[in-house]
Amino acid sequence: MSALEIREHVPLAPLTTLGVGGAARWFVEALDEAAVIAANAWARARGVSLRVLGGGSNVVVADAGVDALVVHLGLRGVDSRTAGGAVEVTAAAGEPWDSLVRTTVERGWAGLECLSGIPGLVGATPIQNVGAYGQEVSDTVAAVRALDTHSGQIATLPAAECGFAYRDSAFKRDTPGRWVVLAVTYRLRPGGAPTLGYADVARHLAQQGVVVPTLGDVRQAVLAIRRGKSMVLDVPGDPNRRSCGSFFLNPILDEGAAAAAAARSAEASMPRWPQPDGRVKLSAAWLIEHAGFARGERAGPVGLSSRHTLAIVAHDGARTGDVLAFARRLQDGVQARFGVRLTREPVFWGEE
Ligand SMILES: Cc1cc2nc3c(=O)[nH]c(=O)nc-3n(C[C@H](O)[C@H](O)[C@H](O)COP(=O)(O)OP(=O)(O)OC[C@H]3O[C@@H](n4cnc5c(N)ncnc54)[C@H](O)[C@@H]3O)c2cc1C
Repeated sequence: MSALEIREHVPLAPLTTLGVGGAARWFVEALDEAAVIAANAWARARGVSLRVLGGGSNVVVADAGVDALVVHLGLRGVDSRTAGGAVEVTAAAGEPWDSLVRTTVERGWAGLECLSGIPGLVGATPIQNVGAYGQEVSDTVAAVRALDTHSGQIATLPAAECGFAYRDSAFKRDTPGRWVVLAVTYRLRPGGAPTLGYADVARHLAQQGVVVPTLGDVRQAVLAIRRGKSMVLDVPGDPNRRSCGSFFLNPILDEGAAAAAAARSAEASMPRWPQPDGRVKLSAAWLIEHAGFARGERAGPVGLSSRHTLAIVAHDGARTGDVLAFARRLQDGVQARFGVRLTREPVFWGEE
C-alpha cells in the first residue's frame, strides 16, 4: 500500500483544463485502490468532504478554492478478456481516456471509436455518461467498480444500476460524491463495424473518399472534426485551448415548452430532436447564437471559443468569477429570448 501523503493548500488551476480557481485545502495523489480507501477514511475521521479529480476537464473550481480533501486519481492498468462473442476491457480509473480508445481501435474492437479525442481519464466517463458523435459510454459500459465512500466498501455495479441518461448518471444525479470510480469495464465488439450515426462524420469520410470506413478511419475523422472545433487538447498554442469543452447541456424539454421556445423564434429552422420519451432536445449552441452571441465574443479575460459556440474559454488573467459571470450572461440572454434556462455541464467545486 502506498503511504498517504496529504498536502495542504495545493493550487488546482494547473490541474484543470480551464486553468482557473483556487486551491484544495487538502490534496493527495492516489496511485492504487488502497490509497483511495485510506484517503476516504482520513476524510471521514475528520469530517472533511472528499472530491475526486481526474483530468480536470469537466470541473470549475471556485476562486476561493475548495474546502475538501481532493484525491487526484492515478490508478493505472488495462485488462481484457473474451466473453462470448465480445471482448470485455477493464481499465483503471486513472488511465487516460483517449489512450484507451486508441488501443481498442487498433485492436479492432468496436464501440468507443466515436469517443476519440475526449480529454480526461477513464474513471470520469461513467459520471456524466460521456458521449460524442453518436456514441455514449452507456452503450458499452458493462460494469463499474467503485468505492462507496459512505460504507467504505468496494462494489461492482452493473450498467443497469448506473442510471445512465444524456450526460448524466446516478453517480452525478442521485448521490453526487458518494462513489469513487476505481475501474470501468466496457463490452466491445471484436471485428465490429464502426458506428456512423453522425452526419458530420459521414460527410468527412465521404470527402476523404472513404467508402467502407474502418474503426481507424472513423477515429481519424472524429479527431479531425474535433480539432477543427478546438475540441482536442493536442494543439499547442491554440487560443481556444483553456475550456471545459461544452459549457452547457442541450436542453431537453417537454413538447409544449419546446413548441413555446420555437414560437419565439423568427426562424422555422430551430433544430429539434424528438426523444424516445416524448420530450424534445434543443441545440444549446443554436439558442446561444440566435440570442445574439457570436463565436469569439469576449467579456474581458473570458469569451466564447472562436470555433465552438458552446465552449467558454479562459484567457490570461481570467478568474472563475469571470467565467461564471459570462456563463450567466449567456443563460440570461437565452432565457430572455427563448424562455429556456440553459444548464451548465461542468461540475462546480466550492462556494458560488
Ligand atoms: C476540449 C474538451 C472537449 C470535451 N469534449 C467532450 C465530449 O465530446 N463529450 C463529453 O461527454 N465530454 C466532453 N468534455 C468534458 C470532459 O472531458 C469529460 O466529461 C471527461 O470525462 C472528464 O474527465 P476528467 O477525468 O477530466 O474529469 P474531471 O474533470 O477531473 O472530473 C469531472 C467530475 O467527475 C468526477 N470524477 C472524476 N473522476 C472520478 C472518479 N474516478 N470517480 C468519481 N468521480 C469522478 C469529479 O469529481 C468531477 O465531479 C470535453 C472537455 C474538454 C476540455
